Amino acid sequence: MEGIYDVVVVGGGPAGAMLTRELARLCPHLRLLLVDGQTKRNPKVCGGLLAPDAQKMFAKLGLTLPTSLLSDPQIFDVETIDLRLGMVRYYQRHYLNMDRYAFDRWLISLIPSSAEIFAGRCMEIRREDLPDGETEFTLDILSEGKTVQAKARWLVGADGANSRVRKTFFGDRVKKYIAIQQTFPNGDIPLPPYSCIFDPDTGDSCSWTIRKEDGFLYGGAFDVKHGRERFEAQKARLEAFLGVRLGEPLKTEACLVTSPRRAKDFCNGRGRVLLVGEAAGFISASSFEGISSAVCSAHLLAEAFAEGLAEDRVTALYRRKTRALRRKLCGKLWKRGILCSPILRSCIMKSGIQSMKKYH
Ligand SMILES: Cc1cc2nc3c(=O)[nH]c(=O)nc-3n(C[C@H](O)[C@H](O)[C@H](O)COP(=O)(O)OP(=O)(O)OC[C@H]3O[C@@H](n4cnc5c(N)ncnc54)[C@H](O)[C@@H]3O)c2cc1C
Repeated sequence: MEGIYDVVVVGGGPAGAMLTRELARLCPHLRLLLVDGQTKRNPKVCGGLLAPDAQKMFAKLGLTLPTSLLSDPQIFDVETIDLRLGMVRYYQRHYLNMDRYAFDRWLISLIPSSAEIFAGRCMEIRREDLPDGETEFTLDILSEGKTVQAKARWLVGADGANSRVRKTFFGDRVKKYIAIQQTFPNGDIPLPPYSCIFDPDTGDSCSWTIRKEDGFLYGGAFDVKHGRERFEAQKARLEAFLGVRLGEPLKTEACLVTSPRRAKDFCNGRGRVLLVGEAAGFISASSFEGISSAVCSAHLLAEAFAEGLAEDRVTALYRRKTRALRRKLCGKLWKRGILCSPILRSCIMKSGIQSMKKYH
């Protein structure tokens, strides 16, 4: 990592991997570095569902998903359960069920070899304004127990919900939940391929179960304070509702997840520091679907870079290009208000609107 990079991207999830790929494609003259903190021992905690909006983004980019990334079974509907009401409804869905770790590795494999990829965690970032009017960022990166440095003219935070880049340069007061997800052995549990669980007695967000080849996931997003107790309390209520015990989990994982509440929670960055994906707050407030926004914002930022490297121009172009994305995500703020209100949700579920009847 000698010399200075034009752009350093921190975080190798869908946003960072796609941005690095698109920058290498659209701006071949730039010297690029992607700092990727994900490891097989510390994979991204995720349901691994690829929503129609994300499928559309890949279609626009001319990409299709290799079948080796898919996980059995595929999903045709969601069983929505309200534990307080004791009510179940079914809604048609068009998600692809994937292995999320394999998906992230596939995205990294799409990056042209002209961009450098470094496995490590960015621990600290310093900004220096040089006498010649240039800006230089120095990143301390922890890799295999050693700290190495990288220098950059532009910095992009693609480092997810707990973004160090966002915290360092813009502060981060956006609401976060702790997402806790357990994997259980596939057994005789009477759960469909995908279910969405609401339980106002243990939290104001939603939980889910998703069947995978190597076990089924039960996860949910809870207030950071008392998150684990709420998760266990909800699990006991789900078990009582289903009339079965889920048993001992094979694995328990947790991470933060962003829950934007107002338009100003979406932050594109400014000047020489830009944000993409969940670091920018680009995630659906109603469903936590974030892959489509990560890929979309990454592509739009690469386009903004391709149109010129003047500091104000990139910021302004990126802001303009993400207008439709931010508008869509503002719509999800409204949807969250409806879905997470026990009274409104109860009205919708009782009405049966858009739900379908099952024959068995
Ligand atoms: C439990 C859970 C389930 C979810 N399920 C779904 C789903 O089914 N479908 C869906 O579309 N969305 C889902 N989401 C949301 C989705 O995972 C994210 O919104 C999406 O992954 C955001 O992509 P990203 O690239 O912005 O960030 P991330 O995917 O979070 O990637 C950030 C990357 O940056 C790396 N990183 C972080 N800090 C540093 C650092 N300091 N230095 C170097 N690297 C760093 C991380 O290791 C990670 O690889 C879920 C989220 C959670 C928490």
